[in-house]
Amino acid sequence: MFSERFGFDVPVPESWAELVLLIESLYFECLHQLDEYRSNRNGLQIAKDIVFVLVVNYYLKRLWRLVNDNGITGIVNGLILRSVSFFMGISFVKSKIDKEVSKVRASIENELTGQDGQFPVFNELPVEGLKEKQVLELLDRLDHDYKRGDWEHGRISGAVYHGGSDLIHLQSQAFEKYIISNQLHPDVFPGVRKMESEVVAMVLDMFHGPEGSCGTTTSGGSESLLLTCLAAKMYALHERGITEPEMIAPITIHAAVYKASYYFGIKLHEIPVDPVTFKVNLTQVKKHINRNTILLLGSAPNFPHGIVDDFEHGLNELALKYNIPLHVDCCLGSFVMGMMERAGFEDAPKFDFRLDGVTSISCDTHKYGFAPKGSSVILYRNQSMRKYQYYINSKWTGGLYGSVTLAGSRPGALTVGCWATMVHLGQQGYIDSCKLIINTARKIKHEIQNIKGLSIIGDPIGSVVAFTSEDYSIYDITDRLSARGWHLSTLQRPPAIHIAVTIPTCKVSNELISDLKSIMGEIERDAEDPTIAKKENKNDTAALYGIAGSVKTGPIADRVIEAFLDTMYKS
Ligand SMILES: *Cc1c(COP(=O)(O)O)cnc(C)c1O
Repeated sequence: MFSERFGFDVPVPESWAELVLLIESLYFECLHQLDEYRSNRNGLQIAKDIVFVLVVNYYLKRLWRLVNDNGITGIVNGLILRSVSFFMGISFVKSKIDKEVSKVRASIENELTGQDGQFPVFNELPVEGLKEKQVLELLDRLDHDYKRGDWEHGRISGAVYHGGSDLIHLQSQAFEKYIISNQLHPDVFPGVRKMESEVVAMVLDMFHGPEGSCGTTTSGGSESLLLTCLAAKMYALHERGITEPEMIAPITIHAAVYKASYYFGIKLHEIPVDPVTFKVNLTQVKKHINRNTILLLGSAPNFPHGIVDDFEHGLNELALKYNIPLHVDCCLGSFVMGMMERAGFEDAPKFDFRLDGVTSISCDTHKYGFAPKGSSVILYRNQSMRKYQYYINSKWTGGLYGSVTLAGSRPGALTVGCWATMVHLGQQGYIDSCKLIINTARKIKHEIQNIKGLSIIGDPIGSVVAFTSEDYSIYDITDRLSARGWHLSTLQRPPAIHIAVTIPTCKVSNELISDLKSIMGEIERDAEDPTIAKKENKNDTAALYGIAGSVKTGPIADRVIEAFLDTMYKS
């Protein structure tokens, strides 16, 4: 049987006794070989051999992991990237690129700061302070006289989630009353502590937190995600001895998770999504699980396409089977996803603590919770993981120190503003907004599906819809939308446009549809006109995403982003 299978002769033992004899003879053969090896080589040579075997073993393992993690194309792309970076460093190439980048930098500066000169400039403290009235006037001018994104009329994706003047008034009063408060000192501001703990409790209740579940507030979704990853890393280190942490997330996970990987040195396996559903590819997730895996992540829904990953039958089961923590990023979904079932949507997906494998959830109160910007919540199934988010130092010369989040001093007024908003709107308020927002998003989805040349990505069920075009340049569509005053988000890989429906957008959804229809009509006509067709793809957005999308020019796109960030502090 053995010889048939392997094609060569292996002595097949016919009884247990023979098997024992066989093993014994193999054993003696090994000893004999070893003896011979030893008599031919001295100690130094043997040591050299051992080192050689260890080194070969080390590099083979690394090679194996490299191929496993990146695939052959990934490795080739990596090599191209390295050689491009090297090439960019050569002086004559470098000066040429520097020149191009400084041109782009100038145009970014012009776009962002071009109007600055119309206002008084303060590059040093005014010798004598301005009167209150003057300051207030300037504040008004700096808001109204700038050409800016028109959020009041809802022609923008996300960014401003509520915009109702009643709510703004309530929040401003909350700010005014608590503007001095600091969450770092709960003894000085006990009322703030109570409100903060209630914000966490109310959000926990919305996501069906079980007995023992807990959480903290943070300054925003990114901080919630950073802390989630940090807590998972520290939990794994202290409870499981994992020193080379890895996490696994779909490529559609929010950028803050990539940021966590960068900040905290956690290796991130980026898992592709299914080409039809755009949910994370579960087979690939499973393939990347190993004994260094500290966290699995998915989104409910993700930022790019508004798709909810498969938690109920996918990620949850993997998390339980391999006993790995599972995080649900519900930063964007926030109260819309939290209230979906209660608002009567029967297709509401299951993703919260009712799934046993879910260990943490992030939820942005400053998105569909309508709280003032700078507020989010991170929830944990139990305290054993939350404590690893804390920073504790009992030896500091400044005294016993402990802090919950990345910041030390924290603006209590923000938490109070959040609390005031939540208790003011109540369950019914959030259920009503959930219905309005989801129904509008579904209407937009349905209408876009019927526009020739456009198609919806996956099957989004919540507040976010993304669309793409097989026939026309999506960047051309973006630029034409901008020309009509729309501020939607442009996506890449694949090129697409997304809209996060908010209360202000609900009022203008019909205009969006009619603008899109007429833009597609224009594009179709232009495509047939040979004089115009040539100009296609020449617009700024296309150029920028063109360089970003190519392996060969990616590093230049990085420099353009750097220039954009520098411009923030240009005065
Ligand atoms: C907005 C968002 C976040 C967090 O972003 P912040 O800007 O830091 O609040 C996280 N995940 C998703 C899916 C988001 O859309």
